[in-house]
Amino acid sequence: MSDRIIPLAEARYVAPVPQVPRHPTAPSGRITDMRGRRLHDLRISVTDRCNFRCTYCMPSAIFDKDYVFLPQSSLLTFEELERVVRLFVAHGVEKVRLTGGEPLLRRHVERLIERLARIERPDGKPLDLTLTTNGSLLARKAEALASAGLRRATVSLDAIDERVFQQMNDVDFPVSDVLDGIAAAERAGLASIKINMVVKRGVNDAEILPMARHFRGTGHIVRFIEFMDVGASNGWRMDDVVPCREVLDIIGREFPLEAVGANYEGEVAERWRYRDGRGEIGVIGSVTQPFCAGCTRMRLSTEGKLFTCLFASDGRDLRALLRGGYSDAEISGAIGLIWQRRGDRYSEIRSSQTVGLRKIEMSYIGG
Ligand code: SAM
Ligand code: SF4
Ligand code: SF4
Repeated sequence: MSDRIIPLAEARYVAPVPQVPRHPTAPSGRITDMRGRRLHDLRISVTDRCNFRCTYCMPSAIFDKDYVFLPQSSLLTFEELERVVRLFVAHGVEKVRLTGGEPLLRRHVERLIERLARIERPDGKPLDLTLTTNGSLLARKAEALASAGLRRATVSLDAIDERVFQQMNDVDFPVSDVLDGIAAAERAGLASIKINMVVKRGVNDAEILPMARHFRGTGHIVRFIEFMDVGASNGWRMDDVVPCREVLDIIGREFPLEAVGANYEGEVAERWRYRDGRGEIGVIGSVTQPFCAGCTRMRLSTEGKLFTCLFASDGRDLRALLRGGYSDAEISGAIGLIWQRRGDRYSEIRSSQTVGLRKIEMSYIGG
């Protein structure tokens, strides 16, 4: 028996290699899944590490000093990621989001952005390339990211109150540094910055109105996200979820709101604008208003596993194909088959039975 110690994180996510189609009818070009949903977005987790320990995502009791993160050798390289993205774009993907873990912790991530920003869609239009960050390193990196070709960014911020925010990030990270990061991103020319706030009842629901007030009139769009039962470590309970209708009521009582249409098919945030013209907010009701019917996202984990749903328990090992000498056509065919066979709709069938199922952690699969 081998005496190699399998790192925890690797052992937990062993998944089958997809059957590689050598058949001439392997799907190419735009594809739809079993529910008629087309493949439009790709989310890439570029690292499973993070410098925060948000209680709803990487609770410090589990992600502690003994937690084994993925070794460098198992991460997809920038060359591999560029190759994968080109194949996805040929399948109709128009939007790519880098996430994690904390994507700005990935060394030289701006070099990856430079490579991806050069990729064009088949219609000649540029790829919509963006990233989600906790903002902690943004003040330092915004300029380099923008020069590399990043045009947009989403910054997570769960409270404007220092005590509440530090309680949620659990590493005493100050609000002011995230706000500095947002300001730096704006100066660097990253347009329409979105602010993600996960709302947890009894923890930061009193921050809904202060957050709306703070960002009203700034051009930045706060998106209030229902706390989800992702992974298996955040102790999710339905009672902790603040339904997005309630969020809209709280804000709408002080600042009247009106609905705005979606930007594109499959957009998950429901858009609302202030009637006085001072900007827009969004609500993401993944728990109380599931949007599986329009879910057009594939997710690629840090070590190259493909997931067709955020709540999946297993992924398909694309890295094995990338490192196994397969041609672009073969890998493209495998991606097509994985999407065509997809029938996921976890949020539509969520129940007390599904909540305890083994699921991939958000920091691994990418939020
Ligand atoms: N570290 C980066 C950040 O926090 O922005 C990117 C990765 S994080 C996993 C991506 C997004 O997922 C963040 O906006 C975060 O707030 C959200 N998120 C994490 N766990 C969540 C949960 N259990 N329910 C809802 N959203 C969650
Ligand atoms: Fe880190 Fe983002 Fe998860 Fe918070 S939400 S622990 S910042 S990966
Ligand atoms: Fe998409 Fe799965 Fe979320 Fe439904 S539960 S919206 S299929 S990621």
